[in-house]
Amino acid sequence: MSKPIPVNTPLLNGNELKYVTECIKTGWISSEGPFISKFEVGFSNYIGMQHGIAVSNGSAALDIAIKALNITKGDEVIIPAFTIISPAQSIITAGALPVLVDSDSLTWNIDITQIEAKITSRTRAILVVHIYGLPVDMDPVIELAKKYNLKIIEDAAEMHGQTYKGKMCGSFGDISIFSFYPNKHITTGEGGMLLTNNVELAERCRKLRNLCFEPNGPRFIHHEIGWNYRMTNLQAALGLAQLEQIDHFIKKKRAMGAFYQAALSSLRTRGYQLPLEKTDFSENIYWVFGLVSPSIEEKNRIVDLLTASKIGTRPFFWCMHEQPVFQKMGLFKNESYPVAERLARNGFYLPSGLGLSNEDQKVVIKCIN
Ligand SMILES: *Cc1c(COP(=O)(O)O)cnc(C)c1O
Repeated sequence: MSKPIPVNTPLLNGNELKYVTECIKTGWISSEGPFISKFEVGFSNYIGMQHGIAVSNGSAALDIAIKALNITKGDEVIIPAFTIISPAQSIITAGALPVLVDSDSLTWNIDITQIEAKITSRTRAILVVHIYGLPVDMDPVIELAKKYNLKIIEDAAEMHGQTYKGKMCGSFGDISIFSFYPNKHITTGEGGMLLTNNVELAERCRKLRNLCFEPNGPRFIHHEIGWNYRMTNLQAALGLAQLEQIDHFIKKKRAMGAFYQAALSSLRTRGYQLPLEKTDFSENIYWVFGLVSPSIEEKNRIVDLLTASKIGTRPFFWCMHEQPVFQKMGLFKNESYPVAERLARNGFYLPSGLGLSNEDQKVVIKCIN
């Protein structure tokens, strides 16, 4: 029998072991320690932002972003219907309301032509999520934000090193967030980062990450509630070693994407949708290589075949308006987003991790074809 091919395996063969060993040898294992600021400075410089605040994961970064921007009860934030739950969860736990927008059928990102109709007097921000490998068309979003005086929160958790019109994703938001989960382009095991060019916002994010201890006030006197969302020095050590290799990782991701594109192109004649190779403003970075099958039955059939061959797949995100937890809360009643619903039902992705070998990729391709 062939060996299993997981949907993701990370690649940890740079300075990861050396730097993590250094943490253990020196005893710097908590969120105090020299790798934290090295990683924050290194990553924020790489994206081209002034301040980086490392946190325990990407979802935590979203919690902090929402609170740092004072988004609260009665406020609305526009998000795509088709996304991971994290943005909606952060908005709802802050007491605010996520307002959903359908997806673009080709890029799978928020349909920017439908955003303006969703803006009300209560809208405070547009939270864009760059999905699977292609960025959101940011210029129209920036224009809307200016016109209606809204903040932009950029969820770039899947876009490390991707550019929009030559400028890094994660450099467009008032606050941007990244995740360093092991399936992202660089990983810290668990981890995330907020980026901003606004020094006050950065200070507020730092406080919120650390139980709102006052940096200059008396110890253990708090004026606000935050979280313990700190990243450890061990994680940052891993992150720094990964960051050293990011350009290589991105090249590898793009090469893997191109390899799948070429080998699977005949799926199109059978009604499958493959990821766009590029748009007017970006080349796909293939965070994951997604396929949208012509029907649910066909998706189930091919996923079952892959599973039987021990090849890992994942379904696409499930739409926010169809999440049982939000329906129980009475949210998104009678709302429908046909493109997002089709993606959620018919979409799945193939093994796409950096640790996938070319031989394994060929096995996946052979199985599908
Ligand atoms: C991975 C991801 C997150 C969440 O990151 P975690 O570190 O897993 O909490 C948020 N948004 C998007 C778009 C993601 O892909």
